[in-house]
Amino acid sequence: MSTNIKSLTREELEARFAAWQQPAYRVTQLLEWLYSRRVTSWDAMTNLPRALREKLAETFSLQTLELIRKQGARDTTQKFLWRLHDHSLIESVLIPANPALYGDTSDRHTLCISTQVGCAYGCKFCASGLDGWKRNLTSDEIVEQVLAVERFSSQSTAHSPQSKDDAASRLKTVDSRLIDNIVMMGMGEPLANYDHLLKALRILNAPWGGGIGSRKITISTSGLVPQIRRLGGEPEQFRLAISLHGATDEVRNKIMPVNRKHPLRELIAACKDYQGQKGRMLTFEYILIAGVNDSLEQAKLLAALAKRLFAKVNLIPYNQVEGLAWERPEEKVCEAFLAVLEKQKVPATLRREKGHDIDAACGQLRLKTVRELALP
Ligand code: SAH
Ligand code: SF4
Repeated sequence: MSTNIKSLTREELEARFAAWQQPAYRVTQLLEWLYSRRVTSWDAMTNLPRALREKLAETFSLQTLELIRKQGARDTTQKFLWRLHDHSLIESVLIPANPALYGDTSDRHTLCISTQVGCAYGCKFCASGLDGWKRNLTSDEIVEQVLAVERFSSQSTAHSPQSKDDAASRLKTVDSRLIDNIVMMGMGEPLANYDHLLKALRILNAPWGGGIGSRKITISTSGLVPQIRRLGGEPEQFRLAISLHGATDEVRNKIMPVNRKHPLRELIAACKDYQGQKGRMLTFEYILIAGVNDSLEQAKLLAALAKRLFAKVNLIPYNQVEGLAWERPEEKVCEAFLAVLEKQKVPATLRREKGHDIDAACGQLRLKTVRELALP
């Protein structure tokens, strides 16, 4: 299959166009069609000469993601399940920043993006790794999740009765950005797909591409130490979130096999260096699982780690996964855990919404669909 055009940077396209003796402004026009208008056919690129469109079509693919299932209403969290060209399934989750009215310019969203089909890291609590790892996503498959969600949302806004006479909404269907924040927290371990990830993030970050600021891009990792160090050496200020889920090796070893390869001491040292290089706050993600990592002793050790690293802590009560025996602690246990962090003046949040209703954790919609439809 030919290379998808959305895995090329502006510089790469410029080099290609120069070799084709095309003027540089044609690249600008092409990029507008791809990333502002988000078109899905070469024919739609009406200001490019037909011969150039034909050449592009011969050389590159323009394949998009096929939506096969969606959960959630427009003003809440929405899950999109996509089918890729090889029939693999991945998901993206769109989370509204605040329930703004449709067409309101403050109607901004965070998109949670997948980076692999499945996951090789096999954390014991996670749906994404249950069936193992299938393959890395290509850069365009990562980029296209943003474009496809925006395409879908602008279409549904354009057709919704509420917005018929709303000029702001009509504008939105052209090229305004719905997503201004992205988190690499969908299926897969982003840092295990390092090169495709970085290229995709550069395309999403570029003013000619997704236009999303690097400080609004968060990479979440279960703790791949060498790649954290490599990321620290990159010029961009991407935010880093560490899926900690335990404040000691004993707890992490129980639920995260990656910890045996890269134990806490090494992980913390890499985080410290990353923090020093970027001068920015890290985030610790901490799922609370009943009887596993929810003791006040763990809370105290977590507070100490967070203080050492200038990290904030996101506490997430565990989302039940079908077929797994883990459970979320009672609410009062979660609150007591949070109180320990607060007492130590560690910036911390506790997700309080009832997350069970839409299979809110990564990998769950795919897993459910695969099981229901017996898809590959
Ligand atoms: N592989 C990366 C990113 C994807 S997972 C990582 O592990 O960081 C994104 C986040 O969802 C991680 O913090 C992960 O631990 C969390 N998660 C996985 N399963 C969950 C569940 N059932 N309930 C709540 N959070 C979950
Ligand atoms: Fe993979 Fe992250 Fe799930 Fe662990 S939590 S299995 S690293 S996706």
